[in-house]
Amino acid sequence: QAKKKGRGSFYLFDPKFQQQIESRIALEEDLRRAIGEGEFSLMYQPQVDKNGVILGAEALIRWISEKNGFVSPMIFIPLAEESGLIHAIGDWVIENALSQMVVFSQSKNFQSMSINVSAWQFADNAFVSKLIAASKKHAVEPGRITLELTETGLLQNIQEARSKLTQLREAGFKIALDDFGTGYSSLSYLRDLPLDELKIDKAFVDEIDGESSTPLVESMISIARHLSLDVVAEGVEHQVQLQALVEMGCVYFQGYHFAKPMPAKALIELLQKEVV
Ligand code: C2E
Ligand code: MG
Ligand code: MG
Ligand code: MG
Repeated sequence: QAKKKGRGSFYLFDPKFQQQIESRIALEEDLRRAIGEGEFSLMYQPQVDKNGVILGAEALIRWISEKNGFVSPMIFIPLAEESGLIHAIGDWVIENALSQMVVFSQSKNFQSMSINVSAWQFADNAFVSKLIAASKKHAVEPGRITLELTETGLLQNIQEARSKLTQLREAGFKIALDDFGTGYSSLSYLRDLPLDELKIDKAFVDEIDGESSTPLVESMISIARHLSLDVVAEGVEHQVQLQALVEMGCVYFQGYHFAKPMPAKALIELLQKEVV
């Protein structure tokens, strides 16, 4: 009988779904408090060359909620996006990552910090000026900041994306396309957007076992080379993957094989050990 009311309203009678909605609302309320309570932190995962020399790091947000414990960014970032909290969270990330960059950049090999930018942040008209202001405030050269955007973030409005990316690059920032290969869009946008780097998604790196052929990864690396873009392979966990990627011409790596995301302090210790 409820079915007659059509899609959507039918599900409201499903107690399980009702529970999901309630726990989602509760989590959203918790998230709203989290910034003020200082429940967020940033971890940094090294980005390395084939010898493991640390050339940069990706800042990754962590939320340890007093109420819910560890909540993965895969859960709360989408929630933050739907509720509009992503703007405050994104500002927090930029502020903290940049203030940390001042310390990391004292290390000789350390070139660049990568920061994840949500489509919603990128769509904000004030985004470009905010970033420029933050880099001035912390005296971080924009050339040492790589902004990681996903296809979904860029392709909603390609004209606007192109003009914003151009502004960001004119200011000196680097642009990476994150999770490359997981979207559904045509490749022509790659030629039309001003990018510096492609990050090959872990899902593709996972398929490298040293035995099977890997035409997709090879093609991605080749596309990057033809477009003069840097390539970072994400989620490198095994030596055979590293070896295969090196043979395919990839020069930058990120993954548990080298290091997991770590607190700033641990990364600073690693960087200090390198200079011998
Ligand atoms: P992402 O930007 O693609 O980040 C890479 C994710 O892969 C991270 O998960 C990292 O910890 C994980 N990873 C890296 N190497 C390995 C590996 O070798 N093995 C495995 N199993 N995992 C590996 P994390 O930190 O859970 O972040 C998940 C996603 O949440 C990120 O994917 C990104 O989309 C989003 N995210 C994280 N921090 C932020 C942030 O500050 N702002 C925004 N907007 N999104 C963020
Ligand atoms: Mg990323
Ligand atoms: Mg990624
Ligand atoms: Mg990913």
